[in-house]
Amino acid sequence: MMAVWCDQCAAQTLLWPSDIRGIVNTAGGAIVAYRCGAGHDGATLVERVARGPVARRAAPVDRQVAAA
Ligand SMILES: [Zn+2]
Repeated sequence: MMAVWCDQCAAQTLLWPSDIRGIVNTAGGAIVAYRCGAGHDGATLVERVARGPVARRAAPVDRQVAAA
């Protein structure tokens, strides 16, 4: 379940997995196309969030690749 702002409802609305119409990954994050519970179509950008352990491990690997 995720929450999005629906402009046509002018409110935050919860989406169920069945409300998701498609997902497109971009460099800035995933664009999620949805249909809210009231039937409005919309899309929202879900920005990528680096999680602690992955981000801490990624930095040294990046440096090794750059040095090779
Ligand atoms: Zn709506």
